[in-house]
Amino acid sequence: MSTNVAWHSHPVDQSIRAEQKLQAPLVIWFTGLSASGKSTIAGALEQILVSQNYHTYLLDGDNVRHGLCRDLGFSDADRKENIRRVGEVAKLAVDAGLIVLAAFISPFRSDRRCVRNILPEGQFIEVFVDAPLDICKQRDPKGLYQLAERGQIKQFTGIDSPYEIPETAEVRLDASTSSVTESVNQLLEYLFQIGALKSGYDPISLSA
Ligand code: ADP
Repeated sequence: MSTNVAWHSHPVDQSIRAEQKLQAPLVIWFTGLSASGKSTIAGALEQILVSQNYHTYLLDGDNVRHGLCRDLGFSDADRKENIRRVGEVAKLAVDAGLIVLAAFISPFRSDRRCVRNILPEGQFIEVFVDAPLDICKQRDPKGLYQLAERGQIKQFTGIDSPYEIPETAEVRLDASTSSVTESVNQLLEYLFQIGALKSGYDPISLSA
């Protein structure tokens, strides 16, 4: 615990960094079961935003466990610390003026609420990537459900660790009936409605 540490205010702040990038910084936080589609949808949305000259950064649950959170496992306490660290990184990136896309199972409501609470009002958009467990098990792109059901991975969300469905998500994507493209368009529409996109947006062609 740090003591005797004061906050140092610097002349360049979030609003100046955001103005330079001509955008409204915020965190788009994707939560949902493993294999529900968080990374896929976040990646596809980021591609569109970058192609329209937005400045973004994608924080991915699997990727941070190779570095920032490599010392953490999947106990409830480690999951909480994982999300706390990622939340702090997201806060710094938003302070840098970026649009942050964060794809994390983040199974506990209290942890998601903590991230919401450290961000300025209106800069945390919770997106529930909703796909039933059966569908996630069928997709299982990394074979993790198979391993978990055989007991070879412990504390796997949806198998032997809980997932708390969001009650206050700004957006719910039906990731079992909507295609990735439809989900991205739903998010673009939402971002446009809240004024986060400068000059409208071009929906991605559904045939893309
Ligand atoms: P998560 O990040 O939630 O663990 P991933 O995005 O890594 O999930 O994996 C989801 C898998 O499901 C990907 O292989 C993706 O291509 C596939 N998928 C199939 N249909 C959809 C859909 N409608 N929405 C999102 N992902 C889908």
